[in-house]
Amino acid sequence: MYTTSRLKIAVLTLAVMTAGLAAAGELPNIVILATGGTIAGAQPTEGDPGYKSGSLSIDSLIAAAPGMDKLARFTGEQIASIGSQDMNDEVWLKLARRANQLLATPEVDGIVVTHGTDTLEETAYFLNLVIRSDKPVVLVGSMRPATSTSADGPLNLYNAVAVAADPGASGLGVLVVSNDDLFAAREIQKTNTTDLQTFISPNRGQLGEAYYGKAWYFWRPTTRHTTASEFSIDGVEALPRVDIVYAHENADGMMVKAAVAAGAKGIVLAGVGDGNATKPMVDALAAAAAKGVVVVRSTRVGSGIVRRNIEVNDDALGFVASLELNPQKARVLLRLALLKTQSPAEIQRVFNEY
Ligand code: ASP
Repeated sequence: MYTTSRLKIAVLTLAVMTAGLAAAGELPNIVILATGGTIAGAQPTEGDPGYKSGSLSIDSLIAAAPGMDKLARFTGEQIASIGSQDMNDEVWLKLARRANQLLATPEVDGIVVTHGTDTLEETAYFLNLVIRSDKPVVLVGSMRPATSTSADGPLNLYNAVAVAADPGASGLGVLVVSNDDLFAAREIQKTNTTDLQTFISPNRGQLGEAYYGKAWYFWRPTTRHTTASEFSIDGVEALPRVDIVYAHENADGMMVKAAVAAGAKGIVLAGVGDGNATKPMVDALAAAAAKGVVVVRSTRVGSGIVRRNIEVNDDALGFVASLELNPQKARVLLRLALLKTQSPAEIQRVFNEY
């Protein structure tokens, strides 16, 4: 015969076992944070190539991707409803803070962010530097609007949820799923205005594949990200202004001077070739650097590494070389680095590590 306390222990043991069994069979909990983009875009009439980004709610996107309930339990939250050409610091800070808040709770196993493809690479890299978690964070967009014939959004979203629900995606930093491919945030670059196969990773290659809900990982990122990042947006209300200036034949220093006059704390050169520019433009950049504006040399070429002191004497002029980062990614890293320092040497160290 059970005493009351023995009965209590037996009931408790049974409860724990039941909870354990339930936990073993439970699906991961994924939160989908929606920001808009073509994945939520609607055409005025079917077959019309024109459309408006960010027209549909996260609930409609979820409803259009049947079968996701077999991969994960998920909830959706609308962070913004914009085309990513309008992405801005306010949405970035709100998105990153919400993601960090959710990822800090044991109930959330991963995050998916729906996003336009135009600036997806910038948001992905920003999150890669300020997310404080090893849990999977996966960005996803589409090239065709949600109302299009053969819309690519639903399968992209399905694959993104599958990756976010996969423990194998932990510790890889922020990822991007597009057109069955999987990319590391630092490496991804949009290369075609309208093709479905627009994203590539020119320097290090794509990270893997996400194919009908199954992820393959080809390699692991070696640069610092997420939990190994020194950058934080805690208490940050505004990010420093950094402008990108584009080099070309016969360029003078006017755009550089305009950036300085507008209050830029940093300037990224989208240089020709290996981060080069005309003498008048380099002179204007050197004058900016002498005033304390941090100048980073990147390239408009689209791939390759901009190294120090090749044709431009970075040591003498006080410049930073962007290495593998394209201008838009270099701008993201420079803005975060400027929250901590204005020293070109220290910022070169940051570019070496991230
Ligand atoms: N302009 C759109 C956006 O970035 C393009 C897209 O999502 O593919 O929001």
